[in-house]
Amino acid sequence: MEFKIETSCKDFAAIVKGNIREELSKYKDMHYKLVIIQVGNNKSSDAYVKGKINDCMECGIAVEHYRFPDDVTTPEIVNKIRELQKRDDLYFGGIIVQLPLPEHIDFELIQGHLDKRLDVDGFLHDSNYSPCTPLGIMNWLDYNKINLTGKNVCIVGRSDIVGKPLVNMMIERGATVTCCNSHTENLYLFTSSADIVITAIGKSKYFSETYFRYGQLVIDVGINYDENGKLCGDVDRENVIEKYPNTYVTPVPGGVGLLTRVALLQNVIS
Ligand code: NAP
Repeated sequence: MEFKIETSCKDFAAIVKGNIREELSKYKDMHYKLVIIQVGNNKSSDAYVKGKINDCMECGIAVEHYRFPDDVTTPEIVNKIRELQKRDDLYFGGIIVQLPLPEHIDFELIQGHLDKRLDVDGFLHDSNYSPCTPLGIMNWLDYNKINLTGKNVCIVGRSDIVGKPLVNMMIERGATVTCCNSHTENLYLFTSSADIVITAIGKSKYFSETYFRYGQLVIDVGINYDENGKLCGDVDRENVIEKYPNTYVTPVPGGVGLLTRVALLQNVIS
């Protein structure tokens, strides 16, 4: 089977942002706002936050960015969230806490204080929103008219923010889903027999061509750095595409990261 992907992640993200910008320009009295809470000077967090601020500015969404020092305590962040949630001007919008956080910060405790109406990352179990990465992937597949009914989907990774929600979303669409983890034996048997493979393990270029076959759709969620400090995914994309030119592999950078970012914008304005 070959998948026809006519709109890349990059083009899709540009289209969605254009639509949001146009939509918001019609409603000048509605002031959407994203509040970003960041801790420390983590290089990856800086890059993610910068991207999110640029996206918001492009689309006409206001941003408030609070950066706490590395030694901030969990209660100090909780207090900030409490203070923000008392404000009326966050009626249209939401709050996110940028990950990764330093080890001493209790993310679950912070999340527990976040109002589900403002949880635009969609991390809470009862959030008003869907988690951005799975939502972004589903929106992109829909835009490309990929019919998931009856498809054999293999998801590698079972995190609460990517793997697990994706399993449910795929099942809802009638896909047959296998979710693998670090204990899965003979992982290649699952990945190579699937129509669609979604990798979310966080290991640089872990998936060589031996994990795949001709004509699959591979969605690489991983964001890692290779031995030269270059951003890369979980899939050894270059070698996989060389061996299977008809297998579509989303790139890193320029792939799922962009889908996640536009899904966040969609959550903020919904
Ligand atoms: P995570 O919490 O880091 O968990 C990793 C998952 O991968 C776990 O379920 C683990 O299994 C599984 N795993 C690890 N090694 C494995 C192996 N060799 N074979 C099979 N499964 C293995 O996951 P995450 O937060 O979803 O992040 C995963 C990656 O996606 C990271 O690189 C992260 O930076 C990236 N990410 C990207 C975006 C984006 O927008 N592109 C968004 C979120 C995350 P066990 O449960 O058995 O330990």
